[in-house]
Amino acid sequence: MRKVIVIGTGPAGLTAAIYLARANMNPLIIEGPEPGGQLTTTTEVENFPGFPEGIMGPELMDNMRKQAERFGAEFKTGWVNGVDLSKRPFKLSVEGQGELLAEALVISTGASAKYLGIPGEKDNVGRGVSTCATCDGFFFRGKKIVVVGGGDSAMEEASFLTKFATQVTVVHRRDELRASKIMQDRARENEKIKWALNRTPVEVVAGEKGVTGLKMRNNETGADELLETDGIFIAIGHTPNTKFLGGQIETDEVGYILVKPGSSETNVPGVFACGDVQDNKYRQAITAAGSGCMAALDCERFLEGSHASEWSQALSK
Ligand code: NAP
Repeated sequence: MRKVIVIGTGPAGLTAAIYLARANMNPLIIEGPEPGGQLTTTTEVENFPGFPEGIMGPELMDNMRKQAERFGAEFKTGWVNGVDLSKRPFKLSVEGQGELLAEALVISTGASAKYLGIPGEKDNVGRGVSTCATCDGFFFRGKKIVVVGGGDSAMEEASFLTKFATQVTVVHRRDELRASKIMQDRARENEKIKWALNRTPVEVVAGEKGVTGLKMRNNETGADELLETDGIFIAIGHTPNTKFLGGQIETDEVGYILVKPGSSETNVPGVFACGDVQDNKYRQAITAAGSGCMAALDCERFLEGSHASEWSQALSK
């Protein structure tokens, strides 16, 4: 049995791991299918304090992992299939690791890229459809690319992809972009970026060798249009990774874990949440890291408190 298990290795989970390990809690960290989290699929991080010249996302995550390991955090890889939070110790069923027990849990499983859910999309993942410009941009050297979405991610991916592509078209379902002004301005200044606004993607068109186009509905005229392209990058946001909790932790209607305001406490005592899995608003590496620190401190206090009450009960017998 472990004192505490941390599920997830983005900035939130790894910061919790650093704090818990330094507090001699010997945390076990479960690393899932996206080790390092979303920052491993980004390029340069310019706004994480302490790096005046910026730092590459994967390098930042690698540093955080090494920092946690330095203080004794132990890592295991596996998909958490299910949990039993009905009583302590909590039970975790982890693929390849069997059943694990812990007195406390820190959930930092983040959020995963959303898909459009249109015909041809899923069939062509890896054949021209991607949700990660950093991972796949290189394959589109000298080609035409579409980026779907109107948020900061879409602007960032479109700008990044102009390093490889001859032309990047941003397809967005409304006239107005959701992205912050600075990100919009950067994209608009880039001559390689074209705009197909007020267009809703309806089908990914592909041939034997992969994607050849995106069929879109023109929301002004209602007519279908075909945009020829070699690649389609979907940048329409994320879904919180909370399915494995089986409804045992309170979430909002989208699935983001609800924590008590100003803390990392969930509705189950001894279960703490941090990072994007509980943050639909800020979603930044630094806020995730900050909330990871909160979860570690809350967890430490919880374990000390529950031990204190166990001891006082034992003494009173
Ligand atoms: P987002 O802000 O939620 O934007 C998602 C975009 O995808 C929206 O424009 C949305 O359209 C569109 N969309 C959603 N579902 C769609 C569907 N089914 N079909 C077509 N379009 C769809 O997500 P995000 O861009 O990933 O950003 C998430 C958070 O991370 C934000 O807070 C953002 O500021 C932050 N972020 C920051 C940076 C940075 O500062 N470097 C970089 C990336 C992300 P509507 O606008 O019509 O809803």
